[in-house]
Amino acid sequence: MSFSLSGLPAFDYRQPASLKEALELLSAETAAQAYSGGTDLFPRIRSRQFHPHLLVDLKSIQDFPATQLTKTGELLINPQISLAHLLPWLHDFAGGEVLSSAILQLGTPSLRNRATLAGNLCNASPAADSIAPLMALNSRLVLQSCQTSREVRVEDFLLSPGKTVCRQDELLTAIILPIQPANSRGVYLKIGRNRAADLSICGVAVLLSPDESAVSGTKAEVVVSGANPIPIKILAAREYLAGYQPDQAVFQHTARLAAQAVQPISDLRSSAAYRQAMVYELTLQALTACFTAFGEKPIR
Ligand SMILES: Cc1cc2nc3c(=O)[nH]c(=O)nc-3n(C[C@H](O)[C@H](O)[C@H](O)COP(=O)(O)OP(=O)(O)OC[C@H]3O[C@@H](n4cnc5c(N)ncnc54)[C@H](O)[C@@H]3O)c2cc1C
Repeated sequence: MSFSLSGLPAFDYRQPASLKEALELLSAETAAQAYSGGTDLFPRIRSRQFHPHLLVDLKSIQDFPATQLTKTGELLINPQISLAHLLPWLHDFAGGEVLSSAILQLGTPSLRNRATLAGNLCNASPAADSIAPLMALNSRLVLQSCQTSREVRVEDFLLSPGKTVCRQDELLTAIILPIQPANSRGVYLKIGRNRAADLSICGVAVLLSPDESAVSGTKAEVVVSGANPIPIKILAAREYLAGYQPDQAVFQHTARLAAQAVQPISDLRSSAAYRQAMVYELTLQALTACFTAFGEKPIR
């Protein structure tokens, strides 16, 4: 079927009902582009950033794995599920609030009814809000082609802005959140140019889990997005936080480690210096919020 909508260049459109059919279309046609919610894709086509000749709509595929808690307690996420429908699944999943707090800051309620986690990941924007939380959770992704299925860690998925290891003939068919220790706590904080649905200038995800082997009794993951070309896990923060009883001075030092680890760019949205200052500030705020709430009811 060929479409020509106002403001968009003409394209062919297919709506496969099975994963096999979608994968065959993608492997046969190099100018084909799959999409889920379309909230990233259509603005890019409209602004003529690129022009796919065939759009493959993934929303009607019946045989993607359903969102579910697996037998081992991992949360397997279907790539078609909207961000809004994903939220209840994260509610009772240990550490899930690091991702749900990011989703609640992503776009508007109507956008979250349409947009997907898979699209946010595969679009691979440095400012994508879900990627830092997914890295903090050590998530894994399943990539499938007609011939193969492989699993990659989310931190190995991104190559550079807009580029991932997902090949033209592959689709992301599941996102897997590994089981986290009970009482894990997390939060994602971001700053944009305004409080309305704006892409982040930078964001910080913090996830804490109980760890008896650490002096602090806690393992902490700190991940920064929007500052470097791809989100960065601050390994020095995890190491440092494990060795000290948490207090404000320790949080301030950790925030400095995060700010030192990033190499932000200046662009239309922010100067490099402002981004770096915000990485410090957001890390400090996220650590304070998470440690204060550790052992209490989830942060919402
Ligand atoms: C007004 C507005 C506000 C926004 N605000 C934010 C914000 O605050 N934070 C933020 O992070 N983003 C924001 N976005 C961007 C966008 O909404 C999100 O990135 C969203 O999660 C994309 O999901 P989608 O399903 O619509 O992706 P799509 O547009 O369907 O796809 C995006 C990319 O992923 C690929 N893709 C999709 N699904 C698959 C799959 N299963 N396998 C392989 N490739 C796939 C597509 O080919 C495309 O390249 C905003 C967008 C708009 C228009």
